[in-house]
Amino acid sequence: MSSPPLVSALDARTQMFPALTEAQIERIRSCGRLRPVHAGEILFEPGDTDIPFYVLLSGSMEILQPDHDGDHAIVSHSPGHFTGELTMISGHRCLVRGRVTSDGEFLELSAPDLRALVGRDAELSDILMRAFILRRLELIRRGLGNLILMGSRHSAATLHLRDFLSRVGHPYRYVDLDTDTISQELLDQFQVRVDEIPVVICQRRGVMRNPTIPALADCLGLNSNIDHRQVRDVIIVGAGPAGLAAAVYAASEGLDALLVEAGAPGGQASSSSKIENYLGFPMGISGQELAARATAQAEKFGAQMMVAHKVVRLDCGTRPYQLELDNGTRLAARAIVISTGAQYNKPKISNLQQFEGQGVYYGATFMESQLCEGQDVVVVGGGNSAGQAAVYLSQTVRKVYMLVRSSGLADSMSRYLIQRIEQNPAIELHYSTELTAVAGNGALQRVTWRNSVSGESSEREICHVFIMAGASPRTALVQGCLALDSKGFILTGRDLEANGSGPAWAHSRPPLLLETSVPGVFAVGDVRSGNVKRVAAAVGEGSIAIHLVHRALAEP
Ligand SMILES: Cc1cc2nc3c(=O)[nH]c(=O)nc-3n(C[C@H](O)[C@H](O)[C@H](O)COP(=O)(O)OP(=O)(O)OC[C@H]3O[C@@H](n4cnc5c(N)ncnc54)[C@H](O)[C@@H]3O)c2cc1C
Repeated sequence: MSSPPLVSALDARTQMFPALTEAQIERIRSCGRLRPVHAGEILFEPGDTDIPFYVLLSGSMEILQPDHDGDHAIVSHSPGHFTGELTMISGHRCLVRGRVTSDGEFLELSAPDLRALVGRDAELSDILMRAFILRRLELIRRGLGNLILMGSRHSAATLHLRDFLSRVGHPYRYVDLDTDTISQELLDQFQVRVDEIPVVICQRRGVMRNPTIPALADCLGLNSNIDHRQVRDVIIVGAGPAGLAAAVYAASEGLDALLVEAGAPGGQASSSSKIENYLGFPMGISGQELAARATAQAEKFGAQMMVAHKVVRLDCGTRPYQLELDNGTRLAARAIVISTGAQYNKPKISNLQQFEGQGVYYGATFMESQLCEGQDVVVVGGGNSAGQAAVYLSQTVRKVYMLVRSSGLADSMSRYLIQRIEQNPAIELHYSTELTAVAGNGALQRVTWRNSVSGESSEREICHVFIMAGASPRTALVQGCLALDSKGFILTGRDLEANGSGPAWAHSRPPLLLETSVPGVFAVGDVRSGNVKRVAAAVGEGSIAIHLVHRALAEP
């Protein structure tokens, strides 16, 4: 989570720990209760859940985080100040200790009452949400999350855990075993082997050796506030831009909504270092920042989020619909939104991911074309999107090497496009050819391709590769339940009547716009047949789907 740009750095501390006015305190008083407090009293501890929110009327308290090497002081509160950070909104376990330092009287509000207040009082919502977000950023900056991660920058598992922690916005202290010799000695004492790195020291569970993401999420209690038995209005599967938008709209419109995400929120957009074409962000916004903001927004309205759990099956034979998770748990809801996105088909090159956004791209827009103006580029793929990208890029780059795995361009490619490619002197077609290696120091510098017929390999100094080898929808969970198009994307609305495999629409009313072949089950974003692979489109569809969920829920 990075700092929201709307917060001025100059008065960040004041916004992190503001004093409320008399009038604001009066509005909180109407839904809270008075609580006398005494010096030394502990009001909350790390690991506590559903802790109340306090406004200090008189007396004082300190917020700290106890650690094995002593207490880390965070702030001292005086009258007018209030407690809390993002866990007040998400319902996750508390990260800090609150201890009264002098006798006085506090105003106490339960967590649900605080969330209701934030929902209806715009001014207080602004002040509290900004303070909670800034306090979390401060905890992240200082690594105060009751979690120590010991790893190596050469270990993929370490990177994976760090990526998850930063995407869920959980503070942690990182110890680099490549440079920290004392920690290495400690690990030796505990007989931690090299293949057991990374090691996580989690306050509640002791030492975890090379933990899985679900085990780490479990240790942090990220899903501990979710009641599996509750039948919800809507469950949204997948927390990319489409699912996050659906969660924001569902919760803000009063629906009881749960978002289930296989990893951490953000989806494909999280791998974009800067989204430049999303409305309202003229300077661009990183995918992770957009996701962090959307997550806080969804939770502010009361949506719940389960992370690190994959939905493996949608059972649409019964209503309420049932979803089965990878650990066997079943969840039920009256309406379902599938927003599981798609996975771009990628060449099997182990270090490809390292260059994503640094020379490896999955889209060829004006922005990317400017980055490689006058240079040589590679386009991988032989279908329509690869063809369009090659022609488009050929207007600004020096040469396009188009690598096509098969012996010709795809049958599905438009005739006019084939002619334009074949007659374009700036495009050099390489059939039966695959990208086999990428290399560079930080950014991409060299690529290698191989002709599968001659067996010959060529290495070139090329800094830009466009991978347009199609995308595979993530639809394993709906197989046998929803109608799909010939490429496996979920058919919705009027497209259900046109083509597809599997069960067709067989109900008395016509399907709603984003409705699948099963009434009350919707599909949005990149997983939907006919999607446009854009963040804005995914967000728009997520919001429209909720409008339609209301209509489906109102049906007898
Ligand atoms: C590198 C990159 C850069 C991009 N840049 C831009 C850009 O600048 N502008 C733009 O408009 N678009 C961009 N795009 C495209 C854009 O990111 C996608 O169109 C958008 O993310 C689609 O959103 P989505 O919510 O439909 O799916 P996704 O973003 O794919 O999210 C789907 C989510 O569902 C989860 N999921 C999948 N299966 C399951 C399951 N079974 N159970 C639970 N969860 C599941 C996944 O983990 C994922 O988080 C970019 C894409 C990439 C890869």
